[in-house]
Amino acid sequence: MTTVDLVVIGGGINGAGIAQCASAAGYSVLLLEKGTVAGQTSANSSKLIHGGLRYLESGQLPLVRKSLAERKALLQLAPSLVNPIPFYIPVYENSRRSSWAIRAGLSLYAMLSDFDALGQFKSVPSVHWSKIKGLKLTGLKALYQYWDAQTDDKLLTEAVIKNARALGAHVIEHAKCTKIEHLQSHCKVHYQVADESQKVEALAVVNAAGPWVNEVLESVSPPIATEPIEWVQGSHLLLDIPANDGILYLESCFDKRVIFVMPWSGQTLIGTTETVLESLSGKPQITSQEVDYLLGIYQHYFSALGDIEALRARVVDSFCGVRVLPKQSGNAFDRPRDTLQKSQPSHPNLLSLYGGKLTTYRTTATEVLDWLEQSIGERQALADFDTLLLE
Ligand SMILES: Cc1cc2nc3c(=O)[nH]c(=O)nc-3n(C[C@H](O)[C@H](O)[C@H](O)COP(=O)(O)OP(=O)(O)OC[C@H]3O[C@@H](n4cnc5c(N)ncnc54)[C@H](O)[C@@H]3O)c2cc1C
Repeated sequence: MTTVDLVVIGGGINGAGIAQCASAAGYSVLLLEKGTVAGQTSANSSKLIHGGLRYLESGQLPLVRKSLAERKALLQLAPSLVNPIPFYIPVYENSRRSSWAIRAGLSLYAMLSDFDALGQFKSVPSVHWSKIKGLKLTGLKALYQYWDAQTDDKLLTEAVIKNARALGAHVIEHAKCTKIEHLQSHCKVHYQVADESQKVEALAVVNAAGPWVNEVLESVSPPIATEPIEWVQGSHLLLDIPANDGILYLESCFDKRVIFVMPWSGQTLIGTTETVLESLSGKPQITSQEVDYLLGIYQHYFSALGDIEALRARVVDSFCGVRVLPKQSGNAFDRPRDTLQKSQPSHPNLLSLYGGKLTTYRTTATEVLDWLEQSIGERQALADFDTLLLE
């Protein structure tokens, strides 16, 4: 039976980043992906590499600071995949967030970015408001413009995997991990490829199975406790309406959430929603309530483009991703969005990841590397993870 230093379960952005980081640090790595790389959450996000302005409202300042530092790093490391993009926040007479609150939030955002080049924001003079095509101008009191970045999440994840492979990681697609035996000094990982059962020995295992994190843990022997989680679906709609040149950050007219109206392949992408799922069976599908919610908010701000039915006729595509959030009372919008890493003294060679952001995949990978070094010792590094370019 083959033995490797690390088995990573899951070929989303987190598994990919961990495989890249661990390979650069000199570990032998096998990544198992039950479908295709970047086939799940990491291809169905809002595609933003951002600090997350709205997380300031729920007090997640460390996450925002970390994400802004990652935005800066990814703009340098992946210039063909991550691009700066202007964001616009319109403030109306009846907006829940006042002009003063937006200005204060953007000042704090700039401060948390250490005033980097994208930290600048401004109030757009009213003579330029009409440049946002179709935006309702009645009752508009102010329009703020700040910066974040946009990526193609699937291409980014594939680029990280490509880099991990170049550093020696072995990546197997259509390989489902079916069982993990946690022994005294190592783990035995069982997986299924094309109806064939395979086994590999690993000194350490990282469970980066995204929404399936607990399903993987349920296959561990001896049994291990799981974290209580909730699956929260986020849906997007693509409309064949020519895109604006930036992203609109819009307060929902139905609740206190924020949604984005974004350019995507020259068309208009709207997202996202928060719908709690009871199970993960099958491919997540946008619900009719989510369609009405997203179109309703769009119509509220862009009424000149027609009524809901006219907008419905312009929907050309939709996609959904599933967030893993800690099970808590209260609405999903305000729950922590940072990655939670769980290892248990009873199973010291196994680490599981819960939740997290596309933007912070590198910091997650670096934290996992610290755990790996402590668990199984260091290796002779092959490359400096912090300078690895992605293309
Ligand atoms: C709607 C939505 C919008 C978002 N928008 C943003 C955003 O704009 N910016 C941002 O920074 N973050 C965003 N996020 C968060 C970000 O997308 C996720 O944190 C990230 O994609 C999660 O990656 P992952 O690798 O953990 O999971 P996934 O991408 O889901 O990868 C897990 C992989 O594990 C595989 N797997 C599962 N079980 C097994 C098994 N038994 N054996 C082998 N493989 C297995 C799955 O097939 C899957 O490919 C968003 C999330 C959602 C849901």
